[in-house]
Amino acid sequence: MATPLSADALVTALRNEGVTVVEHDGWRSHNRAGHGAWGPVHGVIIHHTVTSGTSASVSMCWSGYDELPGPLCQGVIDKTGTVHLIGNGRANHAGTGDGDVLDAVIAENYGDAPPSPNENDTDGNARFYGFECINLGDGEDPWPAEQLDAIERVSAAICRAHGWTAKSVIGHKEWTDTKTDPSFGMPDLRDRIADRLGSKPSGGGTDAQPAVSLAHVIAAARTDAPAAQGHTTYKAEVLRVEQALAAEGLLASTWVDGSYGTKTATAYAAWQRRCGYTGRDADGIPGRNSLTALGKRHGFTATD
Ligand SMILES: [Zn+2]
Repeated sequence: MATPLSADALVTALRNEGVTVVEHDGWRSHNRAGHGAWGPVHGVIIHHTVTSGTSASVSMCWSGYDELPGPLCQGVIDKTGTVHLIGNGRANHAGTGDGDVLDAVIAENYGDAPPSPNENDTDGNARFYGFECINLGDGEDPWPAEQLDAIERVSAAICRAHGWTAKSVIGHKEWTDTKTDPSFGMPDLRDRIADRLGSKPSGGGTDAQPAVSLAHVIAAARTDAPAAQGHTTYKAEVLRVEQALAAEGLLASTWVDGSYGTKTATAYAAWQRRCGYTGRDADGIPGRNSLTALGKRHGFTATD
């Protein structure tokens, strides 16, 4: 369960994953607010458009049509792999699907594929980000490597930002038995997303990652900030967190000192907002999801 990423956090996550992003005018306030919930979010649904041509497809996904007003997704992935952001918030992409599938996605505990959908009892537009990939869906229109690479990166970017695994990414055809998109195999895509999530955005292995204890850094955050300047608690683990915050551009190197002081807390709060948290949930004291997400991006494993 997660609060949806802010528009800025989504753009940052996509760019950090190496995605080419086009922000269409007005996308940040283009949504279906007032027609149902948006969030908490649990995953990503991949679609194909059954259209051709980038501008016509983007325009259709922006506006929708008589029976189904737009936006029809948060982003359109074209055949060159460029991602066109057209919606921020609830979008008409998933419709209703099978609540058992949602449960499997939340638990991230299924095998190659989630249980086959056989009922349409759950609002997917509230729970999933949606990406429409330009393809005729006839089984003959090709899926260029650049487009498949972008689908993989977009999915990984959102999973990484939320601390999800590849099992949080499903196809529309896996959500409801009334759809057949996308026309490629989702288990193979999930394998590639999982491989990508196993490395930093810039690549590199993650074998034998150092551990950072959530309890230790929470203790440090509660102890160091009110203590004298430079006070340290669990210094080595705090250093890892600070190095990650600095790599994110959120903390000046001066303050990468192993002391969880107010500068570190402020930087961590900015990271929490980037993860989609707001208000008191972005208080600068690490939580499991934000610490896990930070570790996945910067080579440490968050433990209890
Ligand atoms: Zn679809």
